[in-house]
Amino acid sequence: MEMLEVILVCYCGNATKLNTSWSNDNPGRRFFGCKKFGSGFKKQCLFFS
Ligand SMILES: [Zn+2]
Repeated sequence: MEMLEVILVCYCGNATKLNTSWSNDNPGRRFFGCKKFGSGFKKQCLFFS
């Protein structure tokens, strides 16, 4: 049985990966986000899945 490699592409066109948020609001919450997410980028990415 083959493993399907799922690559989600963010709204901004970058590949996403599973991240874990450790913010005060949602500690331990897992979400998908691209490399621009939460990186202090001027136009922060807001891709959630
Ligand atoms: Zn993005």
